[in-house]
Parts: sequence; structure tokens; C-alpha cells
Amino acid sequence: MKYKVRFIDYPKQFNSIRTQVMSKVEETLSKGDLILREQTEEFENGLAEFIGVKHAIGVSSGTDALHLSLRAAGIGNGDEVITVSHTFVATAAAIHHTGATPALVDIQDDHNMNPDLLKDLINERTKAIAPVHLNGRMCDMNRISKVADEHGLMIIEDAAQALGASLDSRGAGSWGLTGCFSFYPAKLLGSFGEAGAVVTNNDEIARLIRLYRNHGRTEDKDIAFWSFNCRIHNLQAALLGIKLRTLPDSLLKRRHIAEIYHEGLSQISDLKLPIPPKQGDAYWDVYQNYEIEARSRDELMNHLTVNGVEVMLPWGGKGVHQFSNLELSHYHLPKTEDLMIKALLLPMHDQLEDDQARFVCSLVRDFYY
Ligand SMILES: *Cc1c(COP(=O)(O)O)cnc(C)c1O
Repeated sequence: MKYKVRFIDYPKQFNSIRTQVMSKVEETLSKGDLILREQTEEFENGLAEFIGVKHAIGVSSGTDALHLSLRAAGIGNGDEVITVSHTFVATAAAIHHTGATPALVDIQDDHNMNPDLLKDLINERTKAIAPVHLNGRMCDMNRISKVADEHGLMIIEDAAQALGASLDSRGAGSWGLTGCFSFYPAKLLGSFGEAGAVVTNNDEIARLIRLYRNHGRTEDKDIAFWSFNCRIHNLQAALLGIKLRTLPDSLLKRRHIAEIYHEGLSQISDLKLPIPPKQGDAYWDVYQNYEIEARSRDELMNHLTVNGVEVMLPWGGKGVHQFSNLELSHYHLPKTEDLMIKALLLPMHDQLEDDQARFVCSLVRDFYY
């Protein structure tokens, strides 16, 4: 199948920065800078500044950012951490691997965690809330923080899909004890492989994450505790540094595409669209994904696919609790389950042409009219 509109266009993305990338590869490799060198530190400093936090620590993936954050927060056997089912399995897996259990809360109209339902899940084992800022929109952190404060719970933000998003001018990742980011290639800031980062304003947590990512090895060659190898690849950090400089433009481009989709699709009553970008809104969304709710979703998906538009189902079409081998099937989350029948992700990336987005709109209109 030759797509006219790719869901993401990696070759095009690479070609747009080919010269800078290749010269950075040359420079980094010829200096022999392979593991946790100056490029990692430069990228970490740039990232911390961009988000508006004190520390950023590069790690091997977003999953490891979550796992190490939870461990540094002291979460382990017998504890419970509240998160959503409408997330990548990694969020729940990171909780599971500390020995804790994920407790799943339903979502609200914006597809993010519903703060009103948190209280029902809180018990004496609950230690933390892990809100997931999905599709580039932040959770209602004012209300989530209030619940966390009232019950003495920590917040670990899964900000893998929300780099650069903000609420009340405060960036995703800067609200919780830590914020966790992924630089998986499809993410807002994509590496050429795997990478992630933990950000925090807490000096002690930053110190612990630096130890956790590197076998617990201290500066005086002692081992602080049993740990892992979760170091960020220095070469990826070097290349991420290049992309970080153009990230603000890339996010504006995504908002622009979201505007085109909104303009082209908002008249169709069979669809429910993401909230459109608005100047001066409390939420500044970055549209990691453009997740619509569609009547006759499967038929629409087929119509788009046969006409050359590559679309995707979130998580392959199931929330975390709907994967039977994970032993979370006892949860009943009506909003999440309803969304999994209707949700469809339209192409969204910073190389998408306006005409391509309009073409997608016209195909969707053809389908319903
Ligand atoms: C991508 C993603 C992760 C995991 O990140 P990796 O870098 O792939 O390990 C976690 N949570 C969410 C919401 C994600 O989208």
C-alpha cells in the first residue's frame, strides 16, 4: 500500500534536518563521546530550561523514566498507584515492576483522567497518582493536585505525550514530584531510537534518579543500592539537542494542523473532535495525537485506508484493563470502554502539509455525507 498521507513521515522528518544530524553524528563519534558525555548534559540542561524545572535526567526510555521515578519515590511491594486505562501499557507496567499495583480510574470528556473519581480508589495502600497527559493535553492538574494534597499522595506525571503542553502557563512535567518524558521516534520530540527523561524540582529525587539509571554507582565508586542500566544513549542525546531547538516551531505546526482538522470536520455531527487550539486558553495543547470519536469508526477507518490515508487505533484498540493477560479485567470503566469503540487517530506530525490535512478532511466528509 502506497500511502498518500502517512501517519508519521520519518524519512521526510530526517531529510529536513539531514545535514545537521549527519554532522552531529560525525562530531560526536569522532570525539569518542559515547556514554553520558557533555552532549547528554547539554541536552538535559536545555530540556530542563524548556520545561521550566530545576533538573532533567536523561534515561533509556519513557518507560524507564516512569519506573525509576516510582522507585525513587519509594513505591514498592503492596502499594497502589492510581492511573488510567486509556494509556500505553508502559504506565501500568512501570507501576507493576516496582511491586505495586495499578489502580485504574475512568476518563472524562477530554479523554484524560477524571479527577472526581479518584476518591473512590483511594485506600490505605494508595501512595501516588500517575496522571497521563494524553494526546498532548494536560490533565486537570489543579483538581488532581488538590486530591493528592488532601490524601497525602505523591504525583508522578506521565508526560510522554505532552512535552511543551501547559496548564495555567505551567508546563507538563513540572507539577508532580517527577515528570516522565519519552523520546520514542513518534513522540513530540523523537529520537532516532529509544530515549526518555525524568524532570523534577526536587534535588534528592534528581540525585536518586541519576544513581538509579547507572547501577546505583556513586561518584566515589560505591554502589548505593541494587539498580539497573537505564542510561540515555549519548548519541541520541546529541541529536535530540538539535531537535529541541526547533521544538517550539514543531508544536506550533501541530496546533496549525489541529486547526485545519477542526475547521474541516467540526460540522460533522457523527464526530466528536479534540478541543481546538485557542489563544489565551488555560490549556495549551500540543496535539501529540489527533484523537477523534467517530460513529461507524471501523468503516471510516477502512474508507481512509483504502484511499491512501494511514490512520491508527489508540493502543491497537484496547485500554490497559482490556488486555486479559494483565489481570486487570475486573475493572469496569464505561467511558474508556466506550471510547475504545469510537476512537481513531488521524495523521498528525510536523511534516504534514496543509493540503494533506485538507485531503483527510474531504475524505471524512465524503464518508458521512
Ligand atoms: C510512549 C509512552 C510511554 C512509554 O515511552 P517509551 O519511551 O516508549 O518507553 C509511556 N506512556 C505514554 C502515555 C506513552 O505515550
